[in-house]
Amino acid sequence: MQSPTPANARISIIGAGPGGLTCARILQRNGIAVSVYDRDPDADSRNQGGSLDLHEDDGQLALRSAGLLEEFFALARPEGQEMRRIDPSGRMLDHHLPGPDETSRPEIDRGQLRDLLLRSLAPGTVRWGRTLRSVSGPTDGPRTLTFTDGTTVEADLVIGADGAHSRVRTAVSPATPRYTGVSFLEGWFDDMERAHPELSRLVGKGSALAADGERGLFAQRGSGGHMRVYVMRRAPVDWIAANGLRPEDTEGIRAHLLHEYAHWSAEMLRLITDNDGPFVDRPLFALPVPHTWEHSPSVALLGDAAHLMPPLGVGVNLAMLDASELALALVHSPTLGEAVRSYEKSMLPRSIDMARRLEGGAEHLLSASAHELEEFERSAQAQP
Ligand SMILES: Cc1cc2nc3c(=O)[nH]c(=O)nc-3n(C[C@H](O)[C@H](O)[C@H](O)COP(=O)(O)OP(=O)(O)OC[C@H]3O[C@@H](n4cnc5c(N)ncnc54)[C@H](O)[C@@H]3O)c2cc1C
Repeated sequence: MQSPTPANARISIIGAGPGGLTCARILQRNGIAVSVYDRDPDADSRNQGGSLDLHEDDGQLALRSAGLLEEFFALARPEGQEMRRIDPSGRMLDHHLPGPDETSRPEIDRGQLRDLLLRSLAPGTVRWGRTLRSVSGPTDGPRTLTFTDGTTVEADLVIGADGAHSRVRTAVSPATPRYTGVSFLEGWFDDMERAHPELSRLVGKGSALAADGERGLFAQRGSGGHMRVYVMRRAPVDWIAANGLRPEDTEGIRAHLLHEYAHWSAEMLRLITDNDGPFVDRPLFALPVPHTWEHSPSVALLGDAAHLMPPLGVGVNLAMLDASELALALVHSPTLGEAVRSYEKSMLPRSIDMARRLEGGAEHLLSASAHELEEFERSAQAQP
């Protein structure tokens, strides 16, 4: 079948995360119609999580193509670039304080980024409460999208921006994410200046990381006086149930952690004992490296759906760069097939290279040596 022109094609994006929304915005800005489907019941139904740093060379570049860079800087927190490395006793090992004009990687709350992108779309672009179950139909299209509510949609191009456990990916690749062996447990703090002044002083205005080789704590300030902490450890994927605990048993989980972190100072342990509300379990998964698939003119993957990696600060940036490159390829190519092929030609080598550098990277977050982690991050983020 002749591959349709992007301007006349029915394009569906699955996933209203940073990748899917960036792609939709750039397509619409260039006169290409698109629909986005997300399983969330509405835009506000889920806490979007913590803070993200958007880098000059990828996340910010994508926002420039989306015409949203100025609005981003109005919301971003350059002071969030402060980074402290602490040891388990609370002693500072390393401190990066951003200069007054430093804007290479300012922070923004994930929720603020999602709102910024959503506001930029034509009303009704995102159809909430639509969970994709499967993609069927011939490789050269059209594809039939079936949702869990029984509804179906025909698409000439389906863009899989549906994250780590993508359903769209199953149409082109049998790969499934594997557990990395490292688990994050998320805790939240509210009203930092008044309710948690000691922790506010310990962490500063950006992030603080401490580790002892086996386990670590990573604290990160957000807007509105909030802070997020990740308790990072090597653990079985089902460690909560395996220890006879339930996810909502905050006190039981805390007692378990205090036993594991027994040799850490009382000051550092406040990051485990003083959080507001329950913990959220976030075991880390990654796709096999390298992850590639047979080209199909009717399916494109971007972001975590294409290349889920350990979270070392590049995931959202790569997702937005992918989104921008795919959207611009659709704007400038005569057919869907040529657009997807030209996008994959740059995205696949870039993501394979980064995935190779970050393979096993979750373990590096637990390294007791500030120097070792720094070296790892430098080599991972160096240009090829
Ligand atoms: C603990 C943790 C911390 C992280 N911290 C950082 C960080 O500091 N910096 C950074 O750059 N990256 C970080 N990452 C990685 C980052 O979150 C991802 O790389 C990024 O969100 C990928 O964007 P995306 O648009 O591809 O997918 P996602 O943000 O995962 O969005 C996917 C969207 O698809 C929707 N969806 C999923 N399945 C379906 C379905 N079947 N049907 C319909 N909709 C569906 C979801 O509701 C969601 O809205 C972190 C990841 C983790 C796990």
